Amino acid sequence: MLQIPHFINGQRTAGAAQRHAAVFNPALGRSQAQVVLAEAQDVEAAVAAAHAAFPAWAALSPLKRSRILFRFKSILEERQRELAAVISSEHGKVESDAQGEVQRGLEVVEFACGIPQLLKGEYTEQVATGVDAWTMRQPLGVVAGITPFNFPAMVPMWMFPVALACGNSFILKPSERDPSASLLIAEWLKEAGLPDGVFNVLQGDKLAVDGLLTHPDVAAVSFVGSTPIARYIYETGAAHGKRVQALGGAKNHMVVLPDADLDMTIEALMGAAYGSAGERCMAISVAVAVGEVGDTLVARLAERTRQLRINIGTDPKAEMGPLVTRQHLDKVSGYIAQGVAEGAALVVDGRGLVVPGCEEGFFIGGSLFDHVTPAMTIYQEEIFGPVLAVVRVDSLDAAVRLINQHAYGNGTAIFTRNGGAAREFAHRIQVGMVGINVPIPVPMAFHSFGGWKASLFGDHHMHGPEGVRFYTRMKAITSRWPAGRSHVAEFAMPTLG
Ligand code: NAD
Repeated sequence: MLQIPHFINGQRTAGAAQRHAAVFNPALGRSQAQVVLAEAQDVEAAVAAAHAAFPAWAALSPLKRSRILFRFKSILEERQRELAAVISSEHGKVESDAQGEVQRGLEVVEFACGIPQLLKGEYTEQVATGVDAWTMRQPLGVVAGITPFNFPAMVPMWMFPVALACGNSFILKPSERDPSASLLIAEWLKEAGLPDGVFNVLQGDKLAVDGLLTHPDVAAVSFVGSTPIARYIYETGAAHGKRVQALGGAKNHMVVLPDADLDMTIEALMGAAYGSAGERCMAISVAVAVGEVGDTLVARLAERTRQLRINIGTDPKAEMGPLVTRQHLDKVSGYIAQGVAEGAALVVDGRGLVVPGCEEGFFIGGSLFDHVTPAMTIYQEEIFGPVLAVVRVDSLDAAVRLINQHAYGNGTAIFTRNGGAAREFAHRIQVGMVGINVPIPVPMAFHSFGGWKASLFGDHHMHGPEGVRFYTRMKAITSRWPAGRSHVAEFAMPTLG
């Protein structure tokens, strides 16, 4: 069976390889490869390679680092479909969706290519007579990225292009469920001219993560995944003196006001709730129907949900593929049963779907619940599957209070024609990313991505200007040249003037 190795110091390597995990094709329900799981020696090897490569890489001018990223960008553009096909075969998402993921990652590479401009500091001439002051930003050293299964290319690309451009070396610990994309990326970075050891892939599970979190030579950790693990990463990394940004789970609400354009709203909700089988941290999992719009909204959503085209990701007509694993399928099915048991109205039941030709695949149809209340488990917890819950409220004010009381605060959206209502919503809502008639408001690469509350631990969002700040530390320099001034010791607190 195909073995998926690490990539350390410019080479594929199985390392100490005593343990493996099966990598499935979720549409066929079959194991198609085995990924090696790092042992402690492999963590040491990856950190040692990154540590050794750091000084020369950091010393290279930003322009030269940027030129390597420009070459990587061209390679990625040429091979976007190849990468998308690999993602689809291990994750299950449809290929068009995987291509979109690669495109969104590529945009961060484009942003990082502008690093000579982004690293410019501030300068003040003459802060006192004959004294100048300026700031500069310098790389941290070895930084690690720990990423989830749901975006095996885009989420790593939220991190490493900016980290590398700033002059850090990088260790990526991808999800063990879809690890192949990271290897292609590593090889293409090498082909683009990246020196060995600057970008490494360490395959593995908790052992690898803990090794990175506690290693004295790792300066910073970026994490994206579920909230319990994000909290653990933040606490453990900080306790070991590291800078940490840890993005967690989500429960994203879309508010529909009675004056919304309903055709637009239904299509937006369908894509945002069921695209990628709901396995997106920015998926909409709760529709908040305000006032009289509820009945029409549910009736039209139900009709459209029953028509979802679900198939293997290579089918160009498919709108949605399978879930990632059988365990996850069981978990999502369990939530649906619990929703029924707790009294929600199951309008469309996606359980038991069999796709011809893929009978063993981890498929489930789109499901729709109506009359969901805040006390229900299916409202409180992240399901991470194609299950949309409709909550009915009587005013915008009630919708805002509902969302602000939820533990998560990743993304949200409002659909309305009323500019004043949209403005009030954006102002009052306690969520990190807000869409106005935009269902999945993922910020572009030159802005920064991140949620609030239990959706992010740490104080920096990812990519964009916040990414540059996270991957650098600032130094402030105050300078005077001796030019005939008196040289007398000053014992009072120095003041300039
Ligand atoms: P996960 O938390 O299970 O895994 C994420 C990473 O952590 C993986 O690399 C995994 O190997 C590692 N990991 C898992 N258990 C660990 C443990 N006990 N100790 C140390 N490391 C551990 O998440 P997932 O299932 O791969 O991804 C889905 C989750 O990610 C969802 O909750 C989703 O909302 C979230 N997500 C959030 C964002 C965001 O931007 N906020 C983006 C994408 C995904």
